[in-house]
Amino acid sequence: MSLNLTDVTLTYPDGTGRLTALDHVTLDVPRGSITAVVGPSGSGKSSLLAVAATLVTPDAGTVTVDGTPTTGLTRGRLTDLRRNTIGIVFQQPNLLPALTAAEQLQVMAHLDGRSPAGARARARDLLDAVGLADQAGRRPHQLSGGQRQRVNIARALMNDPAVLLVDEPTSALDHGRGAAVIDLLSRLTRQRGTATVLVTHDRTHLTVVDRIAEVHDGCLSAPVPAG
Ligand code: ADP
Ligand code: MG
Repeated sequence: MSLNLTDVTLTYPDGTGRLTALDHVTLDVPRGSITAVVGPSGSGKSSLLAVAATLVTPDAGTVTVDGTPTTGLTRGRLTDLRRNTIGIVFQQPNLLPALTAAEQLQVMAHLDGRSPAGARARARDLLDAVGLADQAGRRPHQLSGGQRQRVNIARALMNDPAVLLVDEPTSALDHGRGAAVIDLLSRLTRQRGTATVLVTHDRTHLTVVDRIAEVHDGCLSAPVPAG
C-alpha cells in the first residue's frame, strides 16, 4: 500500500463549535492504481487531499505515505516527505506567468537542489509524456486551459512521487478536454506506478479509473471497482 488513511477525523473551528470535515475516513491506495473520490461541493474532498498530502494534521487517525507513518513527524520531516514522495495537482494550476512550460518543471528540481542538466532532461521527458513536447518553450498565456493543466500534472511528477493527489482537474475544462486529462492521469498512474487519488464532483470520465469512493458530509464509502 502506498497511501493509507486509517480512521481519519478532521474538524475545523465553526463559530462556537467544530465542523467535521472528515469523519473516520479510511482509504488504501496501492501504487499503480487510481482511486476517484467523488462527492458534492463541501463534502470534504479537498480536506481529504490536504490530510493525505500531510499539509493538514487530522484531529485523529493515521496517514501513512509510501510506508512512512506521518504521525509525530516534525514539520521539516514532513516537508522532506512531501518533496520526495508526494505530487500534488491543485485545482488551479498556479503556473508562474514569466516561465515557459519547461521552466515551470525545472524550477521544482532547482528547489530541491538537483542538477540542472538532469532537471532539463526530466522536464523534457515529462512534457513529452503529457503530449506537450512541442510546447515546452511556451508561457502560460500561450497555452490553452487543457495544456496548462497538463503542465500542472507534469510538474507534480518531477520528483517521481509514490503518491499523486489531484484536486478537480477537469473543473475548468470542456467535456473533451476533461476526458483527455482523466485518460492522461490514468495512463501516467500505470506508467509511473503512482498511488493516485483523483478528487472530483463530476462522475463523467470515470470509466478509466480503478475504483470509485463516495464522500458525503465527511464520510467516505468503501471504494468499488469502476466501469
Ligand atoms: P470539497 O472539496 O468537497 O468542496 P472541502 O474539503 O473544501 O470540501 O470542505 C469540507 C467542509 O469543510 C466544508 O463545509 C467547508 O466549508 C469546510 N472547510 C474547508 N476548509 C476549511 C477551513 N480552512 N476552515 C473552516 N472550514 C473549512
Ligand atoms: Mg474542493
